[in-house]
Amino acid sequence: GALVLAGCSDGDERSSETPSPSAREAASAEAGITVWPAGQRASTVGDRDLFTGDVAILPLYDPTDASTGGAGQVTFQPGARTAWHSHPAGQRLIVTDGTGWIQQEGQDRITVSEGDVVWFEPGVKHWHGARADSWFSHIALAVPGENTSNEWLEPVDDEHYGAL
Ligand code: MN
Repeated sequence: GALVLAGCSDGDERSSETPSPSAREAASAEAGITVWPAGQRASTVGDRDLFTGDVAILPLYDPTDASTGGAGQVTFQPGARTAWHSHPAGQRLIVTDGTGWIQQEGQDRITVSEGDVVWFEPGVKHWHGARADSWFSHIALAVPGENTSNEWLEPVDDEHYGAL
């Protein structure tokens, strides 16, 4: 999974030198490979109820595919972070750029940077986001299964974030 996703995130550079997406898709399908070109995936802005600060979310593959669960590349501007939340089946993060902070409720903040891989146990209340002075980007991998919707809680307010 991780290697495939890392290849996916490099798609921006390759797409400028390769044939049109439709031509590539046709060729790929014949070979038994499906390519979802970077140019066909649009980022969305993180919902203000779920994130503080500016966050861009780029889907990596079909979130409705029950065999994989969803995955997204999430990019935080400095100081941006998720609200407190938990994942009923757990969550894995692969840090792809920058330096960020993660924190489990009641525990010390942990600093993570490019290449680090994080696992949140099911139901653990936590947040993740950029350090105050750094951009931060990670791939978020949901665990496949039923009833895996995140439980979203209160924002990580400036008082708490600034005190870290
Ligand atoms: Mn999470």
